[in-house]
Amino acid sequence: MFSYKDLLKETQLFCQRGIETGIVGESELKQQIPYIFVGKKNGNYMIVQGAIHAREHLTALVVVCLAKYLVKNAELNINGGIYFVPMVNPDGVRLCQEGVGFINDKQRKSNLLAINGGADFSLWKANADGVDLNVNFDAKWGEGAQNEFFKSSANYVGKEPFSAAESRALAEFTERIKPCVTLSYHLKGEEIYWEFGQTSHRRYRDKRYAQAIAKYTGYAVKEPQNSVGGYKDWCIEKFKIPSFTIEVGNDKFSHPFPYDQLGVIVEQNKDLPRKLLNSIIKDKNELHSVGIDDQLFV
Ligand SMILES: [Zn+2]
Repeated sequence: MFSYKDLLKETQLFCQRGIETGIVGESELKQQIPYIFVGKKNGNYMIVQGAIHAREHLTALVVVCLAKYLVKNAELNINGGIYFVPMVNPDGVRLCQEGVGFINDKQRKSNLLAINGGADFSLWKANADGVDLNVNFDAKWGEGAQNEFFKSSANYVGKEPFSAAESRALAEFTERIKPCVTLSYHLKGEEIYWEFGQTSHRRYRDKRYAQAIAKYTGYAVKEPQNSVGGYKDWCIEKFKIPSFTIEVGNDKFSHPFPYDQLGVIVEQNKDLPRKLLNSIIKDKNELHSVGIDDQLFV
């Protein structure tokens, strides 16, 4: 399994190779959330994030592998810069992999055991406060069909939007970076989510990118669902940028998701961030992006 400690080691290795690394912010338990930056500092940025859901920790390793791919293949031209944030939810990932042993606060420990109904946290999705970070963003917050209003291993929206340290940190980081696109890696299903109430040309534009991602990865474009309060939803609504959730991993496997699928997943996604960012920058620079579908991702 890919742990938080492994992530810190990997981040250090990038740093030693002269790649920019840094901190997005801190988790509820004051653990730092690192990023790795690859590409150019020219104002055209993408954020690629993983493991916002604890049990999806394999996506943290996927995001690290995507950053490594670009570093190793330095001849591939990136027209902007990519911030890779492999593990948005380090507390949740540790809880998932280690149980409550690493938590010092006795009250928090017993609360978590009670919420979880036992010591096996391997299916836990939330942070260390029982908040599901991907329904804690300020985008139709609390209006989702599956939203819950009590602490839980999944689906609890929190007291208010951005009540959790991790979603707040990612939101503040995003406001600072001002990306022109974001990608969020989740598990599982080999699906692409792109919609959050966009209208007219933005709707056409974002669906078209989703179709290009589908063509590249082999995943299916999903039609609108009653899902709200996620990072992608907030990015679409607040910044009016294309923003995607990619559910990697074949649905025939169950959680905890098998790590031997890493190679397949990385192969399907390895050059996606660069290709997507480059097409978006190209479209921004050309007035007429409509009607050139077959030219996407060339
Ligand atoms: Zn997820």
